[in-house]
Amino acid sequence: MQSRRAFLATGVGVAANSVATRVVAQQDAGQTLLSQADDDQAVQDLEVLLPRNRVPLSFVIDDSTCLVNMGHFCTPQFAEALPNRAEYKKPWRDWPREIPDCFVRKFGEWCAEHGVRGKYSIVPYPACVGWVDRELPGWSRQQLQESLKLVRELMVPNWDIHPEMITHTRVIDLKTGRPVEAINAGTMENSYPQEKKSVDELASYLAYALRILERCDLPCEGITTPGGFGNLVKSELSLAVDQAVRDVYSVDLPHYFKYVRTGDQSVEPVLEHLRGQDTNDPRLTVNVPAGTGDWFGGWQGDRDPEPDRYCNQEATSGRMVELIERREPAVMLCHWPGIYSNGNEAGFRAFQRIVTSLEARYGDQTIWMKLSEIGRYWTAKKLTKLRRTGKQVALDAPFAADKFTFRIMNVNGPVRFGTEMRQVCQLSGLDSGTWFQSGRDVIVCLNLPRGRSMVKVG
Ligand SMILES: [Zn+2]
Repeated sequence: MQSRRAFLATGVGVAANSVATRVVAQQDAGQTLLSQADDDQAVQDLEVLLPRNRVPLSFVIDDSTCLVNMGHFCTPQFAEALPNRAEYKKPWRDWPREIPDCFVRKFGEWCAEHGVRGKYSIVPYPACVGWVDRELPGWSRQQLQESLKLVRELMVPNWDIHPEMITHTRVIDLKTGRPVEAINAGTMENSYPQEKKSVDELASYLAYALRILERCDLPCEGITTPGGFGNLVKSELSLAVDQAVRDVYSVDLPHYFKYVRTGDQSVEPVLEHLRGQDTNDPRLTVNVPAGTGDWFGGWQGDRDPEPDRYCNQEATSGRMVELIERREPAVMLCHWPGIYSNGNEAGFRAFQRIVTSLEARYGDQTIWMKLSEIGRYWTAKKLTKLRRTGKQVALDAPFAADKFTFRIMNVNGPVRFGTEMRQVCQLSGLDSGTWFQSGRDVIVCLNLPRGRSMVKVG
């Protein structure tokens, strides 16, 4: 097994045969302490695996909101601020002003049937058209309320809800609630700010967006940045996410989506601004990146989808296949107008084909998760201390995580975690509360509680 230093030096993600090498261990007499914090030598008798020993999949949907087609409404505002770009001169008047709720329902129900999970943005003041917690000019009050209800009932169970800043177009003056007067690249959220901003200033902006969704009874554990928002203040932004999400929603583990990783770059979540690691209340922000570009219909919904770039019909090639084979989170990205495809739904059909292809080849080796669940799992994987003493493993977890899975080497079941756990006879059957005898080792999957707990084997 590689040391962590050697591992990091390679600069690549986790190889298929060394999923646990990022967790490094230290051995003393009769005990094994497995923790990222310790960096001495690797051992062979405990290994944290992927959730249910499966590769996480997730679907990131940007530029969605209630009813408003962001492709139609954003384009003229971008054209005003950045007049020379060809993509802003497209015939936006011909595109529908609405992405209807019947399409949200069709999409959401299909995804629920196929177990798809991910992130769904609700832009709170979409392209300055209206406030989703108050009034959406162009739609009746009842339509807005029904649209929010649909998101709460159909989407929330399987999707993280994120604000994508306030408007996704014009920067809002928080004192007046109006777009700032000057129109230029610096007053568009996508390229804001163009000078350094403090953590507090950024956190105020994020909290303003989050409070609108909070008033709609939508839960949030994170945010999505529109385009290049925060590019000049990446570190401050990450800390601002932590402050704003905790402030408005009182969640213990804020996360955000901003980055797309390409090529050999690791696509694993990154634990940022980790502090208080030795206390029982560590704090951090989890940066959960995507691993693909948007190869559906784009943010304006007018491009031809290229599903094979994610995964071909047989699921033998494509970026998603590459990431699954690497056993790293395979998080795919789209923009909501590019799934609706201005009404012809070509993006949706491309997406369905990808999901069914992945299902056919990798259905028993993958698991769809929300971004928050992926972020939480990686946090638990890195921060939970596992201490083995003979046939007992003590777990000390600063964060709870479902489907926490690890291998205990050279031991035979049964396994107890409070009560006796159920043995499964196929690895693919592994789920919370079960264990599998894998040759001379035991693989355990449990819902890890925050704090101390104990697994007993044999
Ligand atoms: Zn966006």
